[in-house]
Amino acid sequence: GDEAVAFGSGMGAVTACILAFLQHGDHVLCIENAYGPAKMFLTALTDRMALTVEYFKPDSDLESLMRPNTRMIYVESPTTFQFEVLDLRAISQVARAHGALTIIDNTWATPLYQKPLDLGIDISLHSATKYINGHSDIMGGIAITSSKLMETLRPMAIMLGATLSPDDAYLAIRGLRTLAVRLPHHMESGLKVARWLHDHPLVEKVNHPGLPDSPYYELGRQQMTGYSALFSFTVRAAPAGASQAFAASLKLFGIAPSWGSFESLIVPIAIVPDQPAAFRLSIGLEPVEELIADLDQALLCYGEVLNRQLGD
Ligand code: PLP
Repeated sequence: GDEAVAFGSGMGAVTACILAFLQHGDHVLCIENAYGPAKMFLTALTDRMALTVEYFKPDSDLESLMRPNTRMIYVESPTTFQFEVLDLRAISQVARAHGALTIIDNTWATPLYQKPLDLGIDISLHSATKYINGHSDIMGGIAITSSKLMETLRPMAIMLGATLSPDDAYLAIRGLRTLAVRLPHHMESGLKVARWLHDHPLVEKVNHPGLPDSPYYELGRQQMTGYSALFSFTVRAAPAGASQAFAASLKLFGIAPSWGSFESLIVPIAIVPDQPAAFRLSIGLEPVEELIADLDQALLCYGEVLNRQLGD
């Protein structure tokens, strides 16, 4: 991009990019599995700005969803929790034909593994809290775009006040220097854990675009040059409380909603009793054999709980 503007958090970047370009009465298309607070923000604006916000799926026919007042298409690729890959070139072509602006939250792939502006997307934003800083010790955000669009975005960023502090900027730049060394390690370890889980008898599904049987594998390969190490998996139907117990029985994984740093984290998602339990993993820089051994012992305990329940 021509220019970038830094923020005090990824959400600071999300809200400034959305607010800067919307007008009263606009129609917005947003990918269904976007980061929850980004969707909450669009919902919060709906009444105040008479917006119409419509959520679409990765295989939706975008052309048919466009309206005369469609101002913005907001995407993530891969998406939050499901890690679906969207065809960014196709999306940007539809948007341009209708005079709409495209914004991507590119936090997952990082600027190293996906270059959305080259595919026609107008604004690429990141939570720098994740891989860019990489050490879980600051929050930050960044948005990258053309000089033309920055004329509108930068004043909004300044007015909203979610500015990156000098100390955090210093740490983010220090983190950025090792991004190209850290990411391949994250990628390899993430793929090893994903493959191991994929072959585990208790695991029903692994959502990682780098697994060859992922429906997003081919598109992901065309569009990205690598993978980060955040993905999700589901395990067989869980008795109440078992999934929390599973996460808690891991010794090397912290339970926390952030991701993209040196330490491995797990977060239980979509916990519905007697439904398959879903978890999101962020694979850190620890020795991957130790991470797999830890998951192995926790799944063994989980299997025993399931068997006891079946015995009852
Ligand atoms: N975008 C995505 C995809 C995220 O997962 C997050 C945070 O988890 C954010 C944006 C927000 O970033 P921050 O925590 O830096 O505000």
